[in-house]
Amino acid sequence: MEEWKRLVRDTVNTPEKLAAAFDVDLEEMRRIHKEFPIRINPYYLSLIEEPGDPIWKQVVPDPRELVSTGVEDPLHEEDDSEVPNVTHRYPDRALFYVNYMCPIYCRFCTRKRKVGDPHSISENNIEIGLAYIQAHPEIRDVIISGGDPLMLTDKKIDMILGGLRAIKHLEIIRIGSRVPVTLPQRITPELCAILKRHHPFYINTHFNHPREITPETEKACGMLADAGIPLGNQTVLLKGVNDDPAVMVELMKGLLRIRVKPYYIYQADLVVGTDHFRTAIKTGLDIVAALRGHISGMGVPHYVVDAPGGGGKIALIPDPVVSFDDDEIRLRNYEGNVYSYPSTPFFDEDW
Ligand SMILES: *Cc1c(COP(=O)(O)O)cnc(C)c1O
Ligand code: SF4
Repeated sequence: MEEWKRLVRDTVNTPEKLAAAFDVDLEEMRRIHKEFPIRINPYYLSLIEEPGDPIWKQVVPDPRELVSTGVEDPLHEEDDSEVPNVTHRYPDRALFYVNYMCPIYCRFCTRKRKVGDPHSISENNIEIGLAYIQAHPEIRDVIISGGDPLMLTDKKIDMILGGLRAIKHLEIIRIGSRVPVTLPQRITPELCAILKRHHPFYINTHFNHPREITPETEKACGMLADAGIPLGNQTVLLKGVNDDPAVMVELMKGLLRIRVKPYYIYQADLVVGTDHFRTAIKTGLDIVAALRGHISGMGVPHYVVDAPGGGGKIALIPDPVVSFDDDEIRLRNYEGNVYSYPSTPFFDEDW
């Protein structure tokens, strides 16, 4: 049996198995598990060093999940879905959900309503999604998501990618996946050989903490990069996990070292069961300020709020403009020094 399949087989997916691994309150875990399922594979579990650490917080249930002001679908993804499992919000790109399974179930997940629920994906889901994308020539970019698409078999992944590639107007295909981080053993030479047949193909993965960068994840990302797949990273800003400029600087530097380009930092969505992870907006702005200028621009992701109600992603930056009129703009740099630049060109009229 392949190593990743063994890790999936031996996954901690019940309160009882969790209580066997750690000193947790079994009754409490049972109550939470009824609402939001538990899933931690042995690899990711092995990264936990002590209860309450940044790895633990991402996967071990917390009683505060049951006390929440959040809603099931704050981004109104369902409203932007004409067919089930395709969210078509931006004119030229669409999200296509292909499964409900992940290598772990993250306690802060934006799709808590979908992950772990087999009923969220229908039998003929793939055909319906492909037909929708085929019928919408304005879609030039599809992001395959879930759940985690890379939890499917090689054969199924090849079938989905092949189906998408047969759609003439589709230019690029992306997969959003935590597999390279949370189950790096799944990135096999066979899988890479399949993925590289469907270029231009991108992967956005999801590292949240520098301790997730291990020899295993470095190897997985290296194999994907060697297959010519540009790798991006989407981090969720999480209280007690990475809401600290020093941690984020270390994470972004580490990602560049393993050939992954930081892409987004997400402000946590207003999802049911995740209130305890939410940080102040100022925390995010302070983190961007600690990154900009202090590490390469390649390592500075966009800090975005996904507008509740389906407005899409809106980027926030610490405002560098001190003053701005027709003559000059005065700008503050990363060290806090102010510089002046003419706001209108010298030859402003037709010469
Ligand atoms: C994030 C997102 C995308 C992709 O956005 P990019 O900025 O192109 O990465 C597409 N559709 C929806 C609904 C999204 O939330
Ligand atoms: S891997 Fe992604 S989709 Fe799955 S539970 Fe974690 S955040 Fe949610």
